[in-house]
Amino acid sequence: MKDYYKTLGIDKGSSKDEIKKAFRKLAHEHHPDKTKNDPTSSQKFKEASEAYSVLSDDDKRKQYDTFGSAGPGGAGFNSQNGGTGFNGGAGFGGFGGQGGFGGFDFSGFQQGNGQGFEFDLGDIFGDFFGGGRAGGSRGTSRGQDISVDLMISFEESIFGVEKDILITKASKCLTCSGSGAERGSGMKKCEKCNGKGKMIEARRSFLGVVNTTVTCDVCHGQGQIPTDKCSTCNGLGVTERAQEISVKIPAGIENGQSMRLTSMGEAIPSGISGDLYVKIHVKLHSDIRKDGNSLVTDQKIKLTVAIIGGEVNVKSLDGDLLVSIPEGSNNGDVLRIKGKGVPLGGGKRGDLFIKLIIEMPRKLSKEAKRAVEELKKEGI
Ligand SMILES: [Zn+2]
Ligand SMILES: [Zn+2]
Repeated sequence: MKDYYKTLGIDKGSSKDEIKKAFRKLAHEHHPDKTKNDPTSSQKFKEASEAYSVLSDDDKRKQYDTFGSAGPGGAGFNSQNGGTGFNGGAGFGGFGGQGGFGGFDFSGFQQGNGQGFEFDLGDIFGDFFGGGRAGGSRGTSRGQDISVDLMISFEESIFGVEKDILITKASKCLTCSGSGAERGSGMKKCEKCNGKGKMIEARRSFLGVVNTTVTCDVCHGQGQIPTDKCSTCNGLGVTERAQEISVKIPAGIENGQSMRLTSMGEAIPSGISGDLYVKIHVKLHSDIRKDGNSLVTDQKIKLTVAIIGGEVNVKSLDGDLLVSIPEGSNNGDVLRIKGKGVPLGGGKRGDLFIKLIIEMPRKLSKEAKRAVEELKKEGI
């Protein structure tokens, strides 16, 4: 596992400011523009950027602290093909390595195009780029991410659940399947880009004037446009509509964690859809709480049960359990019931811990008092 804190040379408890400072220092030291693309520095720069992209984001940092992964190459929580999965951090396509300028491709590196890092480079590299940002809008365009909140019960958070959520968002047009063409319509060459889908543009950058290929904004890179526009979406290929989306929430999810559903965010014409983030809120249970893989509950028992033992019904997420209380139990003693805790995968489960609370009788009847007097004589 990568230690992002070590990479930045900071402590686990570092503040956002300290994280930023540490990264800024490293980034300036190892920036490819300064080090003439020295491979060691490039590597360090990449590592520092990766660490910063995770630690500077509250959600990802929390995820990383909890699961030890929040980004590229992270543990297998990320979903494939649009299924549900843990939010493993945004994609990390930024560093092209070989392409771009002298081994460094900044094209995937801008905020907002979704393929790069999610922090403000202008803020970090202000002095390199003269206060501006790197590059222009190149690469594949991508729709907006959407974030929604979802409340689930405590039981659902422990055992996992599948939920349907209804959201209204831009989705691929159902009439034309996203092509933007009316049914039966042909396609014709886009005039603006002369059917190439791309155009060359001269741009000023911190490395001087660079010729850059940009995607045609008329045909969105397709090189073709429909002869008749789809009447449902007016040729855009996307429409705003309500959609029911099924979210698989894994067992053991914590309150406040987010799930990322790849490509379930806003769709855009001729581009990749954004992602959908579902933030999970877990309702508290009246009797049971979660502590890592364990479940913990308080159980009141009578004084007599504490003294001579007995059986009591304990509420658990698996229903009532008949638990025998050993004689001579003390207030605060904890009993462990194996396998009634949080599911761990592979059929295994954590344990349930029962903390005993002895109920002292407030009032004693005459007879009870007499009985206690007898006990007293016995030296109890
Ligand atoms: Zn359409
Ligand atoms: Zn075009």
